[in-house]
Amino acid sequence: MSRVYNFSAGPAVLPEEVLKEAAEEMLDYKGSGMSVMEMSHRSKVYDTIIKEAEQDLRDLMNIPDNYKVLFLQGGASQQFAAIPMNLMKNGVADYIVTGQWAKKAYQEAKMYGKANAIASSADKTFSYIPDCSDLPISEDADYVYICENNTIYGTKFHTLPNTKGKTLISDVSSCFLSEPMDVSKYGVIYGGVQKNIGPAGVVIVIIREDLITEEVLPGTPTMLKYKIHSDAESLYNTPPTYGIYICGKVFKWLKKLGGLEAMKEINEKKAAILYDFLDQSKLFKGTVRKEDRSLMNVPFITGNEELDAKFVKEAKAAGFENLKGHRSVGGMRASIYNAMPTEGVQALVDFMKKFEEDNL
Ligand SMILES: *Cc1c(COP(=O)(O)O)cnc(C)c1O
Repeated sequence: MSRVYNFSAGPAVLPEEVLKEAAEEMLDYKGSGMSVMEMSHRSKVYDTIIKEAEQDLRDLMNIPDNYKVLFLQGGASQQFAAIPMNLMKNGVADYIVTGQWAKKAYQEAKMYGKANAIASSADKTFSYIPDCSDLPISEDADYVYICENNTIYGTKFHTLPNTKGKTLISDVSSCFLSEPMDVSKYGVIYGGVQKNIGPAGVVIVIIREDLITEEVLPGTPTMLKYKIHSDAESLYNTPPTYGIYICGKVFKWLKKLGGLEAMKEINEKKAAILYDFLDQSKLFKGTVRKEDRSLMNVPFITGNEELDAKFVKEAKAAGFENLKGHRSVGGMRASIYNAMPTEGVQALVDFMKKFEEDNL
């Protein structure tokens, strides 16, 4: 068996320890005589799995008691509709457009009400986070929406926008559990887990209780109502059982590591290895404004498309997978999520140094 260094933006690398444990438990989960995949979601064994996963997530993120945790399906993209359908009580919402995911959410919301793009960084290919200290927030906005870490462009909100008292909604798909966050500052925090937590098929929604009401837009499907899932504790219908089980293992892995403060320290050191190299390289350069850099997704270019392609090809041959940038921006992107070991980033930088010497 040989494992590569996988820099995929998602589905992405998972902790090896977690994969091994899951493999060991594949045929017989803790004496149940069956795999978690084969188990009723209403069984006692599974109830413990999902309850423990929720509690571990609550511990990790310090989630206040007046927030619900929902394990849902449909990916982050389905939340682009669920959010306006459940929360646009006045039919108005403000969106900060910092990349393709935020833009998709904004476009989806326009189908359900008046969505305003109150700030954007499209003028410079989303390579920065706009100043959000004094935005023209709508008087009657039901919420202000951000994509906190922009997976494709490699930017991150290091300061939350001043929402002038309005509820903040955040897509954290690609920075979920990468560092501590103050949950009480948000109305909704949500993300697909396949970037930084688990296998594709699970989306986690952390939502303040007062936002969960019967009053939703007419025509909202039952499966998109937060109240339905909240009342049923994520067991209204069959949840993505195996995915939640793996997420639970990753939560335990993070707790053992020392929690999100410890994870943040590791992530900062890890990202610095790559950013420091980019800042002094004569061949490679980062594409993002320094103060807005993400700890998770690091896009870079040589400035020459042919050389970029050569790099990606040679890197792949050397065991560094999925370094090609998103099809919309080109160049390269290294996604260095929680589970990417520091050695992987160091090995990548060593490879980049060698490539630079050979190609300059
Ligand atoms: C990947 C991603 C999405 C889309 O997730 P799906 O689960 O594929 O719908 C949305 N937002 C962000 C920030 C992402 O990185």
